[in-house]
Amino acid sequence: AQERYAGLRDQPATAKCGTTVSLHMNAGLMADLPSLEGSGAEGVGLFRTELQFLIRNKVPRRGELAALYARVLDAANGRRVVFRTLDIGSDKVLPYMKRQDEPNPALGWRAIRVGLDKPGVMTMQLQALIRAANGRPLAVMFPFVAQYEEFVAARDHLLRQIERERELGHVLPEKLEIGAMLETPSLAFAPRKFFELADFVSIGGNDLKQFFFAADRENELVRRRYDTLNVSFLRFIEQIVARCAETDTPLSFCGEDAGRPVEALCLAAMGLRMLSMRPASVGPVKHLIRRVNLVEARKVIEAAEEAGEQSVRPAMMNWLAGGAG
Ligand code: PEP
Ligand code: MG
Repeated sequence: AQERYAGLRDQPATAKCGTTVSLHMNAGLMADLPSLEGSGAEGVGLFRTELQFLIRNKVPRRGELAALYARVLDAANGRRVVFRTLDIGSDKVLPYMKRQDEPNPALGWRAIRVGLDKPGVMTMQLQALIRAANGRPLAVMFPFVAQYEEFVAARDHLLRQIERERELGHVLPEKLEIGAMLETPSLAFAPRKFFELADFVSIGGNDLKQFFFAADRENELVRRRYDTLNVSFLRFIEQIVARCAETDTPLSFCGEDAGRPVEALCLAAMGLRMLSMRPASVGPVKHLIRRVNLVEARKVIEAAEEAGEQSVRPAMMNWLAGGAG
């Protein structure tokens, strides 16, 4: 499939209306990095650092992590890489870490909650990231931030590590971006100061959708019940776009839906200007976005809403099948 879209590799995802959507890829292992060249992604919008922890039988050392992150930045060759700090708990369990027995792990002690309560591993990881950057730009994103105060605490923690590395005589990143993943509806309603403080926000649609509809992403009985193209969900996405626009906070979407062409098109129609997806999706998503006028796509969504449709999918498929305006 990659070859099919090879001709588009160096073309931007510019829609017929002139709007360009910036396409990035998700990664988690060194083996993913060669795709950066072939896929035509502009950078790595989500580097899932927990994969390194999941494939081992003990906690990696700081030096090993720093070397790996440095290789990732080398391979990215100046393109932006957003490193997400350890996102464990819920569906991602480390075999060598003591597990709490929780009745609802998805709603439990996971991601940044663990990082703030027991900062040891996150501290080591942040130090490794700063050393890996070694004077290059660094973008760090905290997963599963549910409220402003958590972001402040995580950010302060990172800034303290920066200070410590300075005292130790290490070279600091030339530029530091600190962002948050928006994966719980609560963060969409955070005070304005959250959006002002965050250098960027990325919607983790996999989690956000499961909490929006209260439907476990791991549970086959319910996970397909609620469509991403559900009008309520798209309206919610639009509100997040608007909140970020108020403060000029860059916003991206990095859940799996960003890599599904029709979903990506609808996200772009709701105002998303940066999507991050698996590398093989970059070509197909770009192909579709270049074919359509997002202003017209937006009208299709609004008409479906007017008509009281639950999902805009049938209307959108119809529109696309009819040549998309
Ligand atoms: C998400 O929740 O959409 C996301 C990108 O993170 P993960 O799938 O790793 O939880
Ligand atoms: Mg998530």
